[in-house]
Amino acid sequence: MIVVMKRGVRAEAIQQMVERIREMGLRAQVIEGSERTVVAAIGEKRDGEQQMLESCTDVERVVPILAPYKIASLEAKPEPTCVQAGSLMTGDGHIGIIAGPCSVESEEQILESARAVKAAGATALRGGAFKPRTSPYSFQGMKEEGLKLLAAAREETGLAVVTEVMTPEHVELICRYTDVLQIGARNMQNYHLLQAVGESSCPVLLKRGPSATMEEFLLAAEYILDQGNQQVILCERGIRTFETHTRFTLPLASVPWLKERTHLPVIVDPSHGTGLASLVPSMCAASIAAGADGLIVEVHPHPAEARSDAAQTLSPAVFQEAVEVCRRVAEAMGRTIAGPQAVPVA
Ligand code: PEP
Ligand code: MN
Repeated sequence: MIVVMKRGVRAEAIQQMVERIREMGLRAQVIEGSERTVVAAIGEKRDGEQQMLESCTDVERVVPILAPYKIASLEAKPEPTCVQAGSLMTGDGHIGIIAGPCSVESEEQILESARAVKAAGATALRGGAFKPRTSPYSFQGMKEEGLKLLAAAREETGLAVVTEVMTPEHVELICRYTDVLQIGARNMQNYHLLQAVGESSCPVLLKRGPSATMEEFLLAAEYILDQGNQQVILCERGIRTFETHTRFTLPLASVPWLKERTHLPVIVDPSHGTGLASLVPSMCAASIAAGADGLIVEVHPHPAEARSDAAQTLSPAVFQEAVEVCRRVAEAMGRTIAGPQAVPVA
């Protein structure tokens, strides 16, 4: 259930409501909206609870949440959420453009990437330091050394950093260097990891699992939200189907579908979604046309030399052109993408 508090209610009244909900054996989660504060009461529904909460002071109304995902649902929070992490803003009208190499490979590579994607219009830098690779014999990432290089790139360019965390034990370490924790597709249903990032105060980019349904995806986000971390970005990155012409199948209908049901920002990863660099610019434009709140795109100064995902990686020049097209598409849709100089030098 969602307890909608009256407009302008005092902090003590919200705290009292949280305690009341806990006394009833339910879990309470405060969700601050721009208009109103609501308190989600989560747990098994019992008779008379709704009336009991309705009778409390400073309560405007109590609404049952029908969706299985509670805090993520638009019923809980009708206004869109904007996730902000340093230079990255996504959701509630803001389009975030995250770009950079699949993996951090060297100081020169990540600094060159950061400068190039910033000049092309990116508002955040991606780069994997801990890499989930299908084969144990493939490059596994530079680990903490890679995190240090990402932090140096942020220091120089002012771009927020997005990097993957694969295990709960690494959350604290990675939070020291990054602005956004990425949960990779393979880990979408790693519930201990979801809870661990939910306990941190670092924004989270959650990728859809390649065989996850939309409901499973939203319930994975719910694991993070339920721990108190409200800064979650959903990322469609393609699913596995019978089709083999692309690495994955990129179902862009998931963008408007999600936006009809959740207040969380929804972004698209056309790099992993297609696996083919030549298709990435079109899918970037299509994602923006479909209403995406942002993109995450693999870009490398020398794509052919990339140590991972070379076939789907754009050169800075192609990426720049793709962002320009996206900017025009956004304008046609009555939206805007902040200009290339939007991110100040740190
Ligand atoms: C990545 O972003 O490089 C990555 C491994 O993505 P995914 O988890 O979507 O496969
Ligand atoms: Mn990759």
